Amino acid sequence: MAEKKTIEIPDFITVRDLATVMDVSPINIIKELMGNGIMVNINQEIDFDTASIVAEEMGFDPVELEEEVEEDDGSDRPEWRKILASEKKKNLEDRPPVITMLGHVDHGKTSLLDVFRQANVADGEAGGITQHIGAYQTKYDGNTVTFLDTPGHAAFTQMRARGARATDIAILVVAADDGLMPQTREAIDHAKAAKVPIIVALNKIDLPTAQPDRARQQLVEVGLTPDNWDGDTLVVEVSAKENLGIDDLMEAILLTNEDINPQANPEASPSGTVLEAKMERGKGVTATVLVQNGTLKVGDTLIINEHYGRIKAMYDWNGNRVKEAGPSMPIQVSGLNGAPSPGDQFKVVESEKVARKIAAEIEGNKKAAKSSRTSLDDFFRQLEGGGENKVLRVIVKADVQGSLEPIVSSLNKIENEEVDLEILRADTGNVSESDVMLASASEAVILAFNTNIDSAAKLAAVSDGIEIREYNIIYRLLEDIEKALRGLMAPRFEQVVIGRAEVRAIFRIRKIGNIAGCLMRQGEGRRNANGRVIRGKKLLADGKISSLKHLQDDVREIREGFEFGVQVGDFEDYEEGDIIEFYITRQVQP
Ligand code: GDP
Repeated sequence: MAEKKTIEIPDFITVRDLATVMDVSPINIIKELMGNGIMVNINQEIDFDTASIVAEEMGFDPVELEEEVEEDDGSDRPEWRKILASEKKKNLEDRPPVITMLGHVDHGKTSLLDVFRQANVADGEAGGITQHIGAYQTKYDGNTVTFLDTPGHAAFTQMRARGARATDIAILVVAADDGLMPQTREAIDHAKAAKVPIIVALNKIDLPTAQPDRARQQLVEVGLTPDNWDGDTLVVEVSAKENLGIDDLMEAILLTNEDINPQANPEASPSGTVLEAKMERGKGVTATVLVQNGTLKVGDTLIINEHYGRIKAMYDWNGNRVKEAGPSMPIQVSGLNGAPSPGDQFKVVESEKVARKIAAEIEGNKKAAKSSRTSLDDFFRQLEGGGENKVLRVIVKADVQGSLEPIVSSLNKIENEEVDLEILRADTGNVSESDVMLASASEAVILAFNTNIDSAAKLAAVSDGIEIREYNIIYRLLEDIEKALRGLMAPRFEQVVIGRAEVRAIFRIRKIGNIAGCLMRQGEGRRNANGRVIRGKKLLADGKISSLKHLQDDVREIREGFEFGVQVGDFEDYEEGDIIEFYITRQVQP
């Protein structure tokens, strides 16, 4: 007999991931689970025991996956988690942090980026001709730091909306004379939603009109209490113009970096994110990519959605040709057959032939697939399937403060043990395009109370598939959210007894062991059910039915009144008069 293939399964795994591990269709797994009375959808997690039963039945030898990463692995950071989870801890090495500048227009993001960039040039590190390729690296005190140089939360959010997680640390640039402005507040919402640590740079401190303490006070009001005011947000006073406080800001970056300790495996198959891409006359497509795992080399074949190509040449941010690029390094590559979008993920495949095949499939799927994004109805639907999404994120817009406050406080009062309600933004005014951007990047639903929707927001919502629900009665809004939360709750399971049999005789069969010869008194017995052996009031065994026979034959089911042989798990000590209960586990509909 062929040897069973060993597969590693973690404590919990989604049906989809299990299918990938076993290299079978998820449909087969769902069918197998259904056969065992367990109703799940493809995105649902099942525990190790359940997964291993299925795996065994499908001819695999499941073993428990060793925990390879510590608990605190940035579990709120999906991209990282994916990378880290698939890497053995011993292969991981520290990588430079990737920084994005966020903040209100004209508060000095670009100026600060230039200061850091020039600091690098002054070091004599580079040839002197810097070019904007979407990102650069700089060195400070022996530490390398990567800056994404398309500032602002539009770029940041576009990336996130495409599933990328490129930023490790956000620097919130606040002009000390202006204080917190609308876009500053938006930027804070975005960084918080992305769970990226925020460092505040109070810029333009050189101006006589600068009021750093007023800005600090405003930061307190939005929950970013400065460290020197007993909070935990690092706030650094700087001037990009006068080159003041830049070292302090760098220190704050390095301190935060120690905290989050970003890592990657330089030896892994390279993967990362597209920062920008353009078609240039004579040059073809050039794309700046951020390597996030592995080491990218000239000659590698990239695949980025439906685009692909062999890397002909790679350039760093100084325009120098390089042969390879490790984790956190931004690099401009040429050789792609089309321009991908910022935020798209790249992977390396073994040959152009493979890439072509994958690209064709993706192209095909793209045509077939309709974007399905976030709506409350999706959450309701999960009620049937039992979803994996355990956070319902909302953005609340209301006409006036007087209606916003009771809505927010009532929403905060809705309690649900299993599903969190996260309010990403609560503000007065029309639903704006920025609200839709935040919703799109964070998979949130927008709740509009007695307020209008800007036409740009309407368009963006349609193209991003974001639901804007309009209300003019508070309790209707609350009622919907409560329902959605209920629908999001983890599925509950119950055991249902399907048959009871009495043991009449015990047979010994070579190689198999003792089998209980039974009479099915009531209901039915199934091969794929579970069984309990009960003697008087004592439960002697509880496990999967390991053998079910009618006369000499293995059978799938036994009906009432028939005689049969059964084995429950590896239990062997049956006695005449024992009762064997067959039961299945099924999901309770809420
Ligand atoms: P961005 O829109 O956030 O990228 O802001 P910019 O970096 O383009 O800066 C906007 C304006 O503020 C420019 O005119 C800069 O010269 C000026 N600026 C930037 N940093 C400082 C600073 O530290 N002090 C002063 N006085 N002006 C600054």
